Amino acid sequence: MQIEQLAAPGVQRLTAYDPGYDPETIRLQLGLPRMLELGSNENGHGPSASVLELLRGRDFADAIRYPDAGGRKLRSAIGARWAVDPRAITLGNGSHELLVLIAETFVAPGDEVVFPQYGFAVFKLAAIGSGGLPVQVSALPRSGAQPLGADPEAMAQALSSRTRLVYLANPNNPTGTWWDRATLARFLVRVPHHAVVVIDEAYREYVDERLVPDAVALQDLHPHVVVTRTFSKAHGLAALRIGYAISNPALASVLERTRLTFNANLYAQRAATAAIADRAHVERVRAANAAEREKLAAGLKSLGLFVFPSQGNFVLADFGRPAKPVEDALLRRGAIVRPMGGYGLPNCLRITVGLPEENREFLELLETVLREDLA
Ligand SMILES: *Cc1c(COP(=O)(O)O)cnc(C)c1O
Repeated sequence: MQIEQLAAPGVQRLTAYDPGYDPETIRLQLGLPRMLELGSNENGHGPSASVLELLRGRDFADAIRYPDAGGRKLRSAIGARWAVDPRAITLGNGSHELLVLIAETFVAPGDEVVFPQYGFAVFKLAAIGSGGLPVQVSALPRSGAQPLGADPEAMAQALSSRTRLVYLANPNNPTGTWWDRATLARFLVRVPHHAVVVIDEAYREYVDERLVPDAVALQDLHPHVVVTRTFSKAHGLAALRIGYAISNPALASVLERTRLTFNANLYAQRAATAAIADRAHVERVRAANAAEREKLAAGLKSLGLFVFPSQGNFVLADFGRPAKPVEDALLRRGAIVRPMGGYGLPNCLRITVGLPEENREFLELLETVLREDLA
């Protein structure tokens, strides 16, 4: 018997999540002095100064103790920030963990899990890993206002008596597309009460609030909605692995049964508590990203590419031909971007909005690559 066949049926059908390049590993391989890392939607502005102050110069003597399993201070800080009951909050080792935990908690073998084509890759993996049946719903066409975005009508029609879980990222990674308030509200009304709906708001802090709704505000009407958010993106704390879910407290207490007790480590809890209190920092990050996203998109368009509208800290660009040679040439010159072949978009690359000088450097590099390497 092959070892692989010892795995649970869902796991046998699973492939590992592709995390992209590790910048330091690839830098050493290429023998370059530094890399331009625009592949993982991290925040080049870094965390709040108060977080850096907190982490700097610690002796880590407190590393011998387990962290607060209840994450009391952090959950209060998150509750205060979004005006929700701390009992509504579940902490995760990044929101990725929570996306998987929710499937493990609510999906039994054979249950249907509905998510959009080009939706965040973790949705499908979480569905399969939990033994569920993935129901991938065709996306909107390339031609509309939300090209390749989730199709609200098709998503609603995919719901059945066997649907136990629905995933939607708003805005979505990698397309950058979003649902407005009316679209989301109309969809939620059509979801049967035997299904949990996850709204992944990893990019919440980056959005224009006039365009993208806060799904937490819809939870009074829809108690089966779970919103996930993260400290990895706008808060600049990807390395610490900390995210959270906001849900009905009754749903949170169900998640508490399956959550690993000490999944949120001490330093992540402390850093995140300081990070969420520094609203001015997050606002600076949002404004800088919005301005740079526009410039980056304009620069890419001027190189003849199709650029998808985005409410995140990244843009998706379509090269109109296989993007792999472009990606490889960029990499040789020290720039990391994210290939999209795994999403069935081999002509596209996803590019993180960097600092102003990084975006300038990237556009120059790309222009050179398109002119010299691929002429
Ligand atoms: C980055 C990202 C996440 C997960 O981030 P964590 O670091 O695990 O918190 C979740 N959803 C989307 C759509 C993302 O892009």
